[in-house]
Amino acid sequence: MSDSAAGKVNLLGLSRPELESFVASLGAKPFRARQLMKWMYRKGESDFGRMTDLAKDFRERLAEVAEVRPPDIVTAQASADGTRKWLLRAPGATGAEQAIETVFIPEPGRGTLCISSQVGCALDCAFCSTAQQGFNRNLSAAEIVGQVWLANRELGADPDGPRVITNVVLMGMGEPLANYRSVLPAMRIMMDDLGYDLSRRRVTLSTSGLVPQIYRLAEDCNVALAVSLHAPNDALRDGLVPINRLHPIGELLEACWHYLERQNGRSVTFEYVMLDGVNDRPEHAEELAQLLRGHDAKVNLIPFNTFPGTRYRRSPEPAIAAFRDRLLRRGVIATIRRTRGDDIDAACGQLKGRVLDRTQVRLGRKLVGITVQA
Ligand code: SAH
Repeated sequence: MSDSAAGKVNLLGLSRPELESFVASLGAKPFRARQLMKWMYRKGESDFGRMTDLAKDFRERLAEVAEVRPPDIVTAQASADGTRKWLLRAPGATGAEQAIETVFIPEPGRGTLCISSQVGCALDCAFCSTAQQGFNRNLSAAEIVGQVWLANRELGADPDGPRVITNVVLMGMGEPLANYRSVLPAMRIMMDDLGYDLSRRRVTLSTSGLVPQIYRLAEDCNVALAVSLHAPNDALRDGLVPINRLHPIGELLEACWHYLERQNGRSVTFEYVMLDGVNDRPEHAEELAQLLRGHDAKVNLIPFNTFPGTRYRRSPEPAIAAFRDRLLRRGVIATIRRTRGDDIDAACGQLKGRVLDRTQVRLGRKLVGITVQA
């Protein structure tokens, strides 16, 4: 359990058993934890005084020792296409003013919230703007769930009306599987019927390919899995996604198929960023189809989103469409991700937040010249 600066326990992000033992420590019955969860997540309530079905003295005791505290908002932006982006405070160990980003993408019939899992990222993918920031720290479960809590509030979600956030994707800043300890309880709250009650298909974790953690996830939690593949062979992927030098494509795909087996036949989505002249040639599509054909796999082609200082360019639209068509002809399901919110730098790979104090863990550099051993 994490204590806030004020010495109060932040109830956001506590797992059900943790919350039960917390209320027990205050002398309350375990079912009070269930009531509290409903208030916090379903109704978005943070004021214990308004949790009217809890005894008054219990409410007063809670107000003394606990709080429901999401991250503070630094700035909020809205795109012309309806996409919203929030910059949220995520202070460094020394209290440095750092920030992470959360993005809401409205679409007909659904609303997707893209949340962050770390302040910065250590995995150093060549084409990602978060990578340029380096890594500072993991987010707590409270900060991860807090992004959903806050977005619901900012979007004016009515607890008795239709859901505003229907899907959550861990596709913001950070590598979620590198912060397993906080990400797992946060995802469980998203799927808990007393939490956000999202079905397992509506919570998606995207990873750059941390193979051991994919096996672990297969045992712990069945969310939808997305994998940032981006290249059809190791030579190319080693340069784009440096973790590939530790866990090459063969191992990664094996882990994906294992995950599917444990999760009863859903498919894995493979993200593939379209980089002009780098990974977008017909032979790359052929090679990719060879890897995936016959498996429950979907390819999501992401037009590259540019950012200052990058050496990459987005593949031209006809090249992206041709790549998709080639995959389809080879029997591999493929779609093109529509870019949203790029006028407010909210598109894939453009989230950079504010990472100070960085420890400069950049995997690409660390891996150069070392002999690869898992
Ligand atoms: N670290 C996790 C979660 C990030 S998800 C992962 O790598 O999967 C964000 C997705 O956008 C990933 O597939 C990522 O590779 C992709 N991406 C990163 N930079 C991009 C860019 N500049 N343009 C388009 N997509 C990008």
